[in-house]
Amino acid sequence: MPDALVRPQATLADALWADAGTVCLSGTQALLRLLLMQRARDAAAGLDTRGFLSGYRGSPLGAVDLAVWRAGAAFAERGIRFLPAVNEELAATAVLGTQRVASDPERSCDGVFALWYGKGPGVDRAGDALKHGNAYGSSPTGGVLVVAGDDHGCVSSSMPHQSDLAFQAWQMPVLAPANVAELVEFGLYGWALSRYCGNWVGLTALSEVVESAGTVDLDLIQARAAAWAGAEAVRAASGHRPPAEGLHYRWPDLPSLAIETRLADKLAAVAAFARVNAIDRRIVEPTPAAPARVGIVTAGKAHLDFMEVLRRLDITTEQLAAAGVRVHKLGLTYPIEATRMRAFVCGLAEVLVIEEKAPVVETQLKALLFNAPDGARPRVLGKSDAEGRPLIAATGELRPSRLIEIVAAWLAAHDAALDRRAQVRDFTPPELLSNAADAVRRLPYFCAGCPHNTSTRVPAGSTARPGIGCHVMASWMERSTAGLIQMGGEGVDWVSHAMFTRVPHVFQNLGDGTYYHSGYLAIRQAVAAKATLTYKILYN
Ligand code: SF4
Repeated sequence: MPDALVRPQATLADALWADAGTVCLSGTQALLRLLLMQRARDAAAGLDTRGFLSGYRGSPLGAVDLAVWRAGAAFAERGIRFLPAVNEELAATAVLGTQRVASDPERSCDGVFALWYGKGPGVDRAGDALKHGNAYGSSPTGGVLVVAGDDHGCVSSSMPHQSDLAFQAWQMPVLAPANVAELVEFGLYGWALSRYCGNWVGLTALSEVVESAGTVDLDLIQARAAAWAGAEAVRAASGHRPPAEGLHYRWPDLPSLAIETRLADKLAAVAAFARVNAIDRRIVEPTPAAPARVGIVTAGKAHLDFMEVLRRLDITTEQLAAAGVRVHKLGLTYPIEATRMRAFVCGLAEVLVIEEKAPVVETQLKALLFNAPDGARPRVLGKSDAEGRPLIAATGELRPSRLIEIVAAWLAAHDAALDRRAQVRDFTPPELLSNAADAVRRLPYFCAGCPHNTSTRVPAGSTARPGIGCHVMASWMERSTAGLIQMGGEGVDWVSHAMFTRVPHVFQNLGDGTYYHSGYLAIRQAVAAKATLTYKILYN
């Protein structure tokens, strides 16, 4: 006789509609739930806001629109509007418009909180719109989250990408959730931060996070969010005084150096808000009996990679504390919160920064400490060791298997009691298991019945260029098809190439989705240049 279900009343619909308790959420559902929770938070606070969602699909955020449509009319009835955008740039521009509502005397609500989404190349494509949006700002009763679907492993993109570098270049704060629960918590935090500082706030949604699912304790998140200090309390606790001309969206915001000054003022506001409202967490704090000597800083998904390494090495957080190892996990990765980071490094001789890809946190930490006095300036290791040799990979995806040897060696070097190097497993597949020599290998191919099976064929003697989409697979089907270009650029590389070659003509494949997104601009360019090529709009 099986045990009775603990929660027989639980349904799959709870993922979106439960108000409390523990729910099972996918990363995509978390983004929708965020909007619903923000609406509820505002209503409870007496604010009559609305939500707005816009973006363009693409893995790992390929199913957001589908999830909204599945949620049905109830989503709109809860005050959330969805605009499926033609492309990411126009989605960002639409989001910008929502921040104007709060200052419109004819407005139909108090303000609009907005969520933009797009995969990494979409962040790049929308760069000018997002940069303008961040500079023009958010409204105090609105706020903007910029959710970047980052494919660090290049599993479904033309190239790997990391959007936090672009966010940083635009002076846009960055939040790095490690799992689905943090997508929800950090998303709510992002709007609170955006309302305070006037910035748009970036939220990285790595494939491994947003394409996963997990149980989420809504009560815990709501309790944490309820504890965040509001604007008055932040100013009182931090001493922060916004400039008299304000930090938020204004209309019109004509070209002037005031925009640049305001961007700097916004970052000062971010620092004040983050100082008072922390989403960074101290994971391990040694006791005075065994004072901290070295430290580890983690951020986002890399934190879970690190914790998995500890598990594989049979090292507990208590053992780290006993060995004088302090561990700090960042939620806000740009700008790092300076007072907590200075407190973190206090007494430490060396810090190891564990983060995905480029050294976003490590570079900021080094800059923060560069002029610190002796004794408050530990060595900082991360992408390179103390001698400048490569240490933690800045390319590809971070995984426990790529970290374990480094962490084991680093811990062993600092405390013999933590020496578990004997437990480091070699994850290189043994020769015996390699299928490199197999005579039969299966390459990915078009689905049976897919129009690409025939539409990507070319006449004998002709060549074709692929584009973004499944039809790129024609590249390995002996169809004289080769190359790749960014979405929306299809054929324009040939426009210039054709000027300097004796090759008279090529075919350019263009998916109908890409045509709608931006491809027709490429066709206009080719026509304007009187280039000789044939576009095939692949309808599927
Ligand atoms: S485009 Fe064709 S190959 Fe790609 S998923 Fe659809 S049917 Fe399959």
